[in-house]
Amino acid sequence: MSKILYVEDNLANRLLVKRVLEAAGHTVVEAVDGLQGIRVAQETLPDLILMDINIPGMDGYETTTKLKSLPGLKDIPIIALTARVMTGDREMALTAGCDGYIPKPIDVDLLPLQVAEFLGGKREEVSAAQERIFLRQYSQQLVERLEQKIAELTQANAELQRTDELKSRFISIAAHELRTPITVMKGYLTILLAPGSGFNLDDKMIEILRGMEKGIDRLHRIVDDMLDITKIEGGTLELHRVPLAIKDVINRAVQQQQPFALQRNQRLIAEDFSAYPPVLGDPERLVQVFCNLINNGIKYTPDGGTIRIYGRVIYTNGDLRITRPIASRGDMLEVIVEDTGIGIAPDDQERIFLRFYEVKDPSLHSTSQSRYLGGGIGLGLAIARGIMEAHGGWVWVESEGCDHKRCPGSKLHVIIPLATSVTR
Ligand code: ADP
Repeated sequence: MSKILYVEDNLANRLLVKRVLEAAGHTVVEAVDGLQGIRVAQETLPDLILMDINIPGMDGYETTTKLKSLPGLKDIPIIALTARVMTGDREMALTAGCDGYIPKPIDVDLLPLQVAEFLGGKREEVSAAQERIFLRQYSQQLVERLEQKIAELTQANAELQRTDELKSRFISIAAHELRTPITVMKGYLTILLAPGSGFNLDDKMIEILRGMEKGIDRLHRIVDDMLDITKIEGGTLELHRVPLAIKDVINRAVQQQQPFALQRNQRLIAEDFSAYPPVLGDPERLVQVFCNLINNGIKYTPDGGTIRIYGRVIYTNGDLRITRPIASRGDMLEVIVEDTGIGIAPDDQERIFLRFYEVKDPSLHSTSQSRYLGGGIGLGLAIARGIMEAHGGWVWVESEGCDHKRCPGSKLHVIIPLATSVTR
């Protein structure tokens, strides 16, 4: 027989109508609100839609108007069902786009017949004069609902902002509180492990203490990241910018990351950066940015892959246009950290720069700085971007997409202002 979509939030009504119509030989698909109704209608293309008017979210009138505007759905008859028996309800339903009206409570003996009539082509109509009156009323109702929704959204937004501030405060307090005991533990371990400390430690003891030291170093890095993100968010990140050779920055970052690349049997290759003009930057912070990017390259590239670092000067007055939101003017150096790893999906390419954002399953968290796909806490790129933005530069990603088999790779672009304008 026919396929009927019933949009109704009340379970008892849904069960009743389903039973009655199925007994009459129809198939019934259901939706509990307007948005679901629209989706189910698009997926199932029913022969007729029974629309309860009082449903949560978008009401039945609004859902009908939307359905009637969708190509492929606009010819499906929609029959309003409502318990409201105020005068004008029928006209309002027809004005909103319904093709018929069945008052509630539903008469189970009559329903199959009523449905058959509409399936057979019956359509109710409203006079042009009445339609004008109800259209005005309907548009006024819509504006009122819109106003109410905007007020609700504004309030929800303010609450979200407050929650976000509380979370930032928590991160800041937790990081500050954790720093002292970590420093104390690290200090005692350094004393214990110092050559000639006189503690007579055997090899097993030294191995255990080295394990503890590794754990504490890891904790230290996490706490430092938490403090950095707090500073970036609060706009209190201090930079000590000096003119410097980018070669030194890249060499230091490569030296620090080389052992991790070796563990993974990867090639970490940097071009010779000696010829590039000096940049204006905080050397420690720039090393931190490149360590983060190279380390990500190592983690998200399979064993045996390659991480390559190369640069180019961007002349802002020349042919190359920077389309990124960069505060400073003048010529820039662009350094690219390219890997042969899994790549990053287009939808994630901006989101990965958000705090605590991770593309993958958090169960893959790893304390290791080299394990394949072993993610950290998701702050590295947010910090890198915060640092580069504070430099008047930027960092962004270019990648064909994410594919664990094909490994299209990623290119992380870092823009750093030059110390002085250069002539070509
Ligand atoms: P994490 O501490 O998780 O590495 P990041 O902020 O450094 O946090 O990175 C955020 C996410 O971006 C990572 O979880 C990862 O999914 C993705 N990502 C970062 N760099 C790369 C890369 N070079 N290749 C593929 N994915 C990457």
